[in-house]
Amino acid sequence: MKLMKAVVFKGTSHLAVEEVPRPTPGPGEALVRVTLTSICGTDVHIVRGEYPVAPGLILGHELVGVIEELGGGLADLYTVGQRVIAGAVTPCGQCYDCLNGAQAQCGGVSGGWRLGHTINGTWAEYTIVPNARANLAPIPDTLADQEVLLCTDVFSAGLAGAESGGVRAGDAVAVFGQGPVGLAAALGARLRGAALIVGVDPIRQRLEAGRRFGVNVTLNVRDGDPVHEIRRLTGGRGVDVAIEALGRQETFEHALASLRPGGTLSSLGVYAGKVQAPEPMFHAGLADQKIVTTLCPGGKERMRRLMAMVEHRRVDLTPLITHRFSLDDVDDAFEVFSRQRDGVLKVALRPAHTFDRFNRVAVGALDEQC
Ligand SMILES: [Zn+2]
Ligand SMILES: [Zn+2]
Repeated sequence: MKLMKAVVFKGTSHLAVEEVPRPTPGPGEALVRVTLTSICGTDVHIVRGEYPVAPGLILGHELVGVIEELGGGLADLYTVGQRVIAGAVTPCGQCYDCLNGAQAQCGGVSGGWRLGHTINGTWAEYTIVPNARANLAPIPDTLADQEVLLCTDVFSAGLAGAESGGVRAGDAVAVFGQGPVGLAAALGARLRGAALIVGVDPIRQRLEAGRRFGVNVTLNVRDGDPVHEIRRLTGGRGVDVAIEALGRQETFEHALASLRPGGTLSSLGVYAGKVQAPEPMFHAGLADQKIVTTLCPGGKERMRRLMAMVEHRRVDLTPLITHRFSLDDVDDAFEVFSRQRDGVLKVALRPAHTFDRFNRVAVGALDEQC
């Protein structure tokens, strides 16, 4: 039996790097050798015990890698050695939910999110991608691993926040939370033609980063009431779209209170505990406003489109990757990321084995950058 190194969730606040059996792909599945992965805010919720995941699972849902082995039914589409990504959400493309246009909800609420949630994930030397025909997206040859890493989750989710909010050219948009997803949401609002994009956060470096992703006005919540300032910036009207990218009651209320009548609150945050819409901000439910929620869209066509945005230089996601660690040092990586140390936005994690002809290029570029 072949073994591999993996980061196993052992229970609240406990991750362990272990040698575990290397899996074998079944029909329709692919075994991918992981060359780059990352830590997501959702992983922090899991490790803190705020989001339930079964102990014993390998965490991680951001995948850049090389096809190592193909299960049955894939040889006409893919080849061993091909560089690929898969989205954090891996829909089947065939079930009731998928065929109703809710691919991320494949098989039930949040069901499309499988990697590092309901099946073993990407914090390992190898991972199984389920429903591979629907999910393996070949990486364009000109792109390095770190250029496409964030397509798998942050960029897809952030852009989806703007898409679900129905951002139109000329809109005023406020983004609450300027972590990686909030920054990607600002980028998404810019791509969809928003005129005014307001970034709101308590951390100065994050607000500064927002300016690189399309934010025109930054508001530090420590300096005063952001809702008051947003009303002032919009001539008293409020924003067309408010994007909540943190998952807290306070930011949810701020987003709701910032909306114009008929506006849309687009919620991306992962909430723990109760979320309420207080009456003064909800206008007794009579303001023609919409609240929409979104889980990161996945599937290979979504991934192809996002990588095309990178390939044709519409976006550069690499400034979001501020730190890099070996998979063996996941505890250090997690400490920096979860406590928001050293100006961290995203950390790249890579297994030690990754020095092949592709990744010598990719890792070299990453070394220069981080
Ligand atoms: Zn995630
Ligand atoms: Zn499905």
